[in-house]
Amino acid sequence: MVDRVLVTLDGADRDPDAPLLYADDMGALRGDGVFETVLVRSGVACALEFHLGRLRRSAQALDLPDPELGRWRAAVERAAEQWGTEREGMLRMIYTRGRDGDQPAAPAKVTSGDLAALTRPTAYVLVAPVPARVVAARADGIAVQTLSRGISIDLAQAAPWQLLGAKTLSYATNMAALRFAHRMGADDVIFTSTENRVLEGPRSTVVIARDRTLLTPPAKNGVLPGVTQRALFVEAGKAGWDCRYESLYTADLLTCDSVWLLSSITLAARVNSLDGLRMSAPENAAEIIDLVDRGVARSGAVGDW
Ligand code: PLP
Repeated sequence: MVDRVLVTLDGADRDPDAPLLYADDMGALRGDGVFETVLVRSGVACALEFHLGRLRRSAQALDLPDPELGRWRAAVERAAEQWGTEREGMLRMIYTRGRDGDQPAAPAKVTSGDLAALTRPTAYVLVAPVPARVVAARADGIAVQTLSRGISIDLAQAAPWQLLGAKTLSYATNMAALRFAHRMGADDVIFTSTENRVLEGPRSTVVIARDRTLLTPPAKNGVLPGVTQRALFVEAGKAGWDCRYESLYTADLLTCDSVWLLSSITLAARVNSLDGLRMSAPENAAEIIDLVDRGVARSGAVGDW
């Protein structure tokens, strides 16, 4: 059984244990690029069209060349097929600005369209095993610590260069927040804004359930639009749930029936304790998990994103 699969966007299979990037790749030097993380289940990339749609949106936000979605789809399908059907895989699509030496000499003088045309990006698909923590999070839920992100919910609109709605490779602060929470004995984090509004996890979307209603903060509040959350809302809407985008206060996390962190690999992790307060499982927990499972099993449509 293979342990890693690596396919570059030209469709070539690469040795995953051989070096691939140049030392001056902008993804490595500055985190200047975008990515997607996709669950491979039964040899198929889950919710692939949603991921391709978001990859395109993220690339636009960074003035990267429009990703050739047909080639991405083919590379992902090839990598997922090679991974096989026996176990789940964690597939990443990586798309960076390419080599520092290839960047335009005077970027201030070119339009964003020219900039994209002059860029020679780095693009590849890598599949690796699903981390062990994922199995426990799905089965037992997670202990979560709320942490301030130190930003207002107005920042996304006031400062679009912050790229809050794009899935960029710059995740150092997200990983630092997770390490901080781990030192406090928690498994994961929910970021809050300076107005005490709920934002998102460092690698997940927050969804709360109240009666037959599902609520999540809107993207305009500075959170990444989540594929898993979107897939859940489509599926739950069909099953008669009322699904809404609303600003949430941290107090809402304690007064609702259940809080979930949704993400492409873990899927649905129920918050079983929040800032040390135990949160018991609601009766409909299995139904919500099932709706997420069924939602991501559909590929979606790239245009829906
Ligand atoms: N928010 C952030 C910051 C993330 O990094 C992620 C996932 O990586 C999500 C939300 C959840 O998105 P998705 O369900 O598309 O994985």
